[in-house]
Amino acid sequence: MISVEEALERVLSYVEVLNPERKPILDCLGQVLAEDVYSTIDIPPLDNSAMDGYALRAEDTRGASESSPRYLSVIGEIAAGSLPTIKVRPGTAIRIMTGAPLPEGADAVVRFEDTDEVSRKSSGADLSQIGILCQAKKGANIRCRGEDIAKGDLVLKKGTVLRPQEIGVLASLGRSAALVIRRPVVAILATGDELVGVDQPLTPGKIYDSNTYTIAAEVSRYGGIPKILGIGRDSVQSLTEKINEGLDADMLITSGGVSKGDYDIVKDVLAKHGQIGFWMVCMKPGKPLAFGVIKKGEEGRERKVPHLGLPGNPVSSMVTFEQFARPAILKMMGKEKLEKPTIRAAIDDDVENSDGRRLFVRVAVTRSGGRYHASVTGPQGSGILTSMVKANGLAVIPESSKGVKKGDVVEVQMLDWVEDPRCDRRQPEKVPVVSIVGKSQSGKTMLMEQLIAEFKRRGYRVAALKHSRSGIQIDQPRKDSWRYAQAGSDAVLVSSPDKLAFIKNLGHELNLEEIMPVVGAEFDLVLVEGFRKSKAPKIEVHRKRLGGDLLCSPEELSAIVTDGSLDIDVPQLPWGDTVAIADFIEKNFVVAVS
Ligand code: AMP
Ligand code: MG
Repeated sequence: MISVEEALERVLSYVEVLNPERKPILDCLGQVLAEDVYSTIDIPPLDNSAMDGYALRAEDTRGASESSPRYLSVIGEIAAGSLPTIKVRPGTAIRIMTGAPLPEGADAVVRFEDTDEVSRKSSGADLSQIGILCQAKKGANIRCRGEDIAKGDLVLKKGTVLRPQEIGVLASLGRSAALVIRRPVVAILATGDELVGVDQPLTPGKIYDSNTYTIAAEVSRYGGIPKILGIGRDSVQSLTEKINEGLDADMLITSGGVSKGDYDIVKDVLAKHGQIGFWMVCMKPGKPLAFGVIKKGEEGRERKVPHLGLPGNPVSSMVTFEQFARPAILKMMGKEKLEKPTIRAAIDDDVENSDGRRLFVRVAVTRSGGRYHASVTGPQGSGILTSMVKANGLAVIPESSKGVKKGDVVEVQMLDWVEDPRCDRRQPEKVPVVSIVGKSQSGKTMLMEQLIAEFKRRGYRVAALKHSRSGIQIDQPRKDSWRYAQAGSDAVLVSSPDKLAFIKNLGHELNLEEIMPVVGAEFDLVLVEGFRKSKAPKIEVHRKRLGGDLLCSPEELSAIVTDGSLDIDVPQLPWGDTVAIADFIEKNFVVAVS
């Protein structure tokens, strides 16, 4: 078996940066610039106003204030796009719009808001004069000629990846086309007798070909141009025909037919037409991978088309695409940064790594309270494509690791960014819950108050839940909501500009697991008072004055907060030391991530 790094190095050694092409700037998004771009003009081309206001001589505003305006005569107006025809002389001003060229003689612009223009207009006063209400500095609100880009500047360097802002800069220089590295054409071939195209009826024993579409979408996403070859059957003739159709592409990606099954003939066909490496890569999913080059054309003038043979299982083909095809496409496009962006996150689940391969675990990463959390997106079978749908990242468990425990920090390759709205859904059952229990009068509520304040201070979003035997007292007799309940309503909601209360008659009591989905997933910690019978971790408050015994048995407790000392094997925290108690909860249940 070869390592992921070694496999990647070999793949990259076979692909070259493609040649450049000149094309309209709007078609260049995401491509790499293949020329240095110099400016032939100044931007802005002239000194101009950064505000709507009055162009004047700063000197004429000396000592101006609201209580003592300086009055200047208004001798004209300049709109953006026109050129001034008159000069500003001492004691005069010209009304000027944002972007309009600064008239000769002026060395500052005063905003409308700093003049008496509005009050003049509303009182019908004469507009041939203007009162300046503040002292202007020389150069105020003026954008100088060439301050953004000067004629002759190197504005964009060869090798720059063109984003919307670079495309805007090219336009601002008056460039309608740019020289960029061409996008690679990637031919895509699915293989297997069991596959049916999405526009065909599904007959018994068949499955729809999904890999073609996943791979084509990935190729587009990373900047390539997919060329779909369709489905090759598990026969030498069918595969040979299809592969030949793909040989004018820059790369060929096949899926399926690379494992050890009898019908896995991709490797045989390819071996005949080129060189092929058939590799066991030390990763899961995705162990079998084929890579090689197919020769095209006559001897002497032949061209070699790199070929990547991905495994057939939909998740395996996606994960191997991300590791090997994506960097190959990026390299062909002339990009230098080929690695996937990674973050470090606390994993929400235990994950075992039993066979010593690098494990790529599909996870949903969320960010809460300044921390990233990664939770495993359900069953990880390599055929379960919906586990990728729920995921926005791949947690990487190294081959040397036997696995990770809930709370361990892992590296996650991001498939999408956490800012992506669909990634913001943390499941309510993953929000940590800690329950504070204790005898009556032990000070549970006081500890709750202190912990809530301490966790808020640490930047957490905290929900607090009270177990109340004696009914819910958030509604006041004779208030409208109380009257709705009296009239027999089964649920009453009260909404105000910043709060929502929801009182629902159930006829039975909910347990914590049932309450959590109602609480929602937007909290970093739920602190609970009571609920002694729940499975949530519990901390008992123990006070000497209430006797030596505990309410819960030691096995049920994660810790004891006490003003005495108990001879039992449970962590004991000093009553009154909120910081130490919060540290204990944070470390054991909330998980801090760097
Ligand atoms: P193979 O690598 O050809 O043995 O395929 C492994 C598994 O992936 C089999 O269960 C195939 O049915 C499935 N598979 C192969 N190609 C595709 C495809 N294009 N779309 C969906 N599933 C596929
Ligand atoms: Mg197959």
